[in-house]
Amino acid sequence: MTDAADSPGSLPGEFDLIARYFAPIAAVFPGALGLKDDVALLDVAPGHQMVATTDAIVAGVHFLADDPPDLIAKKLVRVNLSDLAAKGAKPLACLLALALPRATSPSWLEAFAKGLAEDCASFALPLAGGDTTATDGPLTLVLTALGEAPRGQVPLRSGAKVGDRIFVSGTIGDGALGLEVARAGLAELAAPLRSHLLRRYRIPEPKVQLGLALRGLVHAAIDVSDGLLADLGHICAASGVAADIQAAMVPMSDAVQIALARDPALLARVLAGGDDYEILFTAEPGDSDRIVEAALAVGVPVTGIGFIASPPPDGAPNVRVGDLKAMETVLRVGGYRHF
Ligand code: ADP
Ligand code: MG
Repeated sequence: MTDAADSPGSLPGEFDLIARYFAPIAAVFPGALGLKDDVALLDVAPGHQMVATTDAIVAGVHFLADDPPDLIAKKLVRVNLSDLAAKGAKPLACLLALALPRATSPSWLEAFAKGLAEDCASFALPLAGGDTTATDGPLTLVLTALGEAPRGQVPLRSGAKVGDRIFVSGTIGDGALGLEVARAGLAELAAPLRSHLLRRYRIPEPKVQLGLALRGLVHAAIDVSDGLLADLGHICAASGVAADIQAAMVPMSDAVQIALARDPALLARVLAGGDDYEILFTAEPGDSDRIVEAALAVGVPVTGIGFIASPPPDGAPNVRVGDLKAMETVLRVGGYRHF
C-alpha cells in the first residue's frame, strides 16, 4: 500500500531533497559546508597523499531495482572502502552522484539514506557532496571515496617482487557462493549457512583497519572483487611476475567448505568467483610473523597461500594453482576439511 505522500513522482525538489536526506549525513564533516556550497573542502595530513576511487552501479546491471535500498547504499559504500582498504588508506570523505528515475518514491530514498548514514558513520566516511539528477533511464549511483595514506607508501598492483609471499585476509568464496544463494541456488545447504553466504555477498565487510595495520609491510595489494585468481593475475600482470598458490591453503569459511564437500565442482567458482572484498597482498616472507600479528591485533586473520615467482614464458598463465587436481580428487572422495 502506498499513500499519496509516498507515491512515485512525489519527491521534493532537488534542494529540499538534499537538505532532507543527505545534509544530515554530511553534518559531521565541516568541509562539506552543510551541502550548501558548490564544493567541499578537504585537508590531507602533512606527508600524506590523497587516495581516490569511484564506483558506478546501475539498476538491472549491478543490482536489482527491488533490492532493499539500505543494502544498495551499503554495498556501494563498502565496495569503495574496500579499494581504500587494500591501499592502506584512511577514509576521509565521499561524494555521491545519483540519477533517480522519476518514479522513485520518498520511502525508497528514506531507506537508501538510512543505509548510507549508517555506513558513513560506522566507517568514518562522511558524505562531503555530490550531485542529484532525474533520469528516464535506470537508477544509477556513483560513489567516490577519498582517503589518505603516507606519501609513497601506497601498495600498488605493480609492487610484487619475485620471492614475495602471497597472503589473503579472511575467507574466500563466500561472495561467489552467496551470489549463487541469491539466485536461489545451493538450496540443499542448511539455512544458517545459506544466510551466512548471502550476507557476505550482499553486505561485504571492507578490511579498512587491516589495511591500516599493514602499512609499511606490503609490497603489492588489491582487493578481491573480480575473484582470487583474476585479482592475483592483475598483480602479476602489473608487476611482471608469476604466482604459485596452493588451493588447499586458501582460507574458506565453514559454509564454503561444507558446500564444497557436497559439490566438489564448486571449487573453481570459489577460487575464480568475485565479491569477497578481502585484501590480497604480497610481502617479504621474513615479515610473515609481523604481518600475522598485525592482522590478529585488528581481529582479521591473514593466510599465506603461496609465493611470487619469475615471469612466465610468453603465453603461459601467470597464476598457477599447484594442487588443483589433487584437491579436486580429495574433495570428490569426501576427505577434505580445512581446519
Ligand atoms: P551544483 O549546482 O554545483 O551542481 P548542486 O545544486 O547540484 O550544485 O548541489 C548543491 C550542494 O548539494 C553541493 O554541495 C553538492 O555537493 C550537494 N549535493 C547534491 N547532490 C548530492 C547528493 N546526492 N549527495 C550529497 N551531496 C549532494
Ligand atoms: Mg549539481
